[in-house]
Amino acid sequence: MRIRFWGVRGSIPAPGPDTNRYGGNTSCVSLRTAAGELIIIDMGTGLMHLGNSLLPTEFGKGKGNATILLSHAHWDHIQGLGFFAPVFIPGNHFTLWGHAKSSSMLEGILEGQMNPNFSPLYTLKNLGAAVEVRAVVPGEAFEGAGTRITGRPNPHGSTTALAFRIEEAGRSFVYASDVGYPEGGGPSPEVLALYRGADVLLHDCTYTPDDQATRRNRGFSSYEDAAAVAVAAQVKHLVMFHYDQDYTDDDVDRLRLACRAALDRRGGSSIALTAAAEGDELTI
Ligand SMILES: [Zn+2]
Repeated sequence: MRIRFWGVRGSIPAPGPDTNRYGGNTSCVSLRTAAGELIIIDMGTGLMHLGNSLLPTEFGKGKGNATILLSHAHWDHIQGLGFFAPVFIPGNHFTLWGHAKSSSMLEGILEGQMNPNFSPLYTLKNLGAAVEVRAVVPGEAFEGAGTRITGRPNPHGSTTALAFRIEEAGRSFVYASDVGYPEGGGPSPEVLALYRGADVLLHDCTYTPDDQATRRNRGFSSYEDAAAVAVAAQVKHLVMFHYDQDYTDDDVDRLRLACRAALDRRGGSSIALTAAAEGDELTI
């Protein structure tokens, strides 16, 4: 599978000269399966650029089909939807999986951002493409784009965010953004099992430990949290993601060096480390 980063920033878009290298768009990752199917994870502002790149393909002709995984519905994970060009083309079909007690409840949450006070689109019904909304049952695997997908909720401030494990032909990619483990604790045994042995674990890496200490209630991870779970779950490759909006590219460089040192100190020197940057790709 081929993974591409379209938005790696946390909380709010942060474009500008100080964030050019890693990028300022909010969370959006695409995954092309070995069979060529498309999975989109989160719909931050990076989704607009992914959408534009899809127009020369079947998505420009109204023949596209994709699975969308939504970790949670905070703004920085849904704002790209109204700017995702393929969603306006009749004939395209999207199956959107997210966390809610029911599919209709999730659809209502997404409908909320289309309210005319917030958007000229008025309603999801005005999108030309079909968007089928489905609620994830934690721990219950489902099929998406020919892969096996499992979602589990992580604590995220006053709410939760789903972590997803995507498996295809013995390869595994785990997406775990927006995670605030209990102070002094780590993931639940079920979530640790979801991460275990992943070829790639993409993990929230919003803060330095010092910044996290003064912003605990926001529900994000430090690089120490990310390194600790990568070692505990014995993953092969850790990808840092969702950097604080105030961090410059140079700050993220320092975050990466500190995370490398944390992995080594914790016995994870064999774990590869990448700081996700917009436009970069990984193949596993
Ligand atoms: Zn976020």
